[in-house]
Amino acid sequence: MADAEEPKYDLRKLKEADFEKHYILTPEAKEKAKYGKLVFEFPQENNEIVAEGDPMDYVVHPQAYFRGASQIPGSQFNSSFQIFVKPFFLDKVQHRHPADEFLIFLGANSTNVFDFDAHIELTIGKAEESETYVIDKPTIIRIPAYTYHCPLNFKKVNKPVMFMAACMMPMFGGIYDMPDGTSQEMYYNGPMQCKYDENKKCDSCGKCLLEKWERDQDQA
Ligand SMILES: [Zn+2]
Repeated sequence: MADAEEPKYDLRKLKEADFEKHYILTPEAKEKAKYGKLVFEFPQENNEIVAEGDPMDYVVHPQAYFRGASQIPGSQFNSSFQIFVKPFFLDKVQHRHPADEFLIFLGANSTNVFDFDAHIELTIGKAEESETYVIDKPTIIRIPAYTYHCPLNFKKVNKPVMFMAACMMPMFGGIYDMPDGTSQEMYYNGPMQCKYDENKKCDSCGKCLLEKWERDQDQA
């Protein structure tokens, strides 16, 4: 019998580095540090975009959202992190995004994400091409750029569901077909303050998306 082969990658042989500089996430420390802009503490958010009259108790409060480049400069990614506890018709209107979106459904049981008991329906494709998928197990769905999707309906939620809508864009937004035949791009960046004017609420103007974080000499 041949000797057991040496493992190709033996992580135990790697040298551990020593690290001296530690930072607490104060604005001053982040300003001083080279990588400070890459570290962002989630603010607590409460979903404010529900249609009038819709109940707010379908989801656990507060929720976490990563709002993309306005929070970490240069990000080409934004995502929600929500726990649904009751049936809710989340998205009734078909739309597209100019980049890929991933819709992620997991059980919210902190000891087993496969503990899943829900019936969720998602439509992919437009009109006669459309297909509706039933999500009744932990599932991830890729929505390629410019692919029509929704409605998205959480029809039965017998156990809490962790839902993430992760879009590969610097700010959340979609392209909607209007009744007059045109299409319109709409953006939403959360209920946060404007980065440049503390008396103003963010109106998703996109100015802060132009801020950059350069990797300077680290870039190979
Ligand atoms: Zn979408």
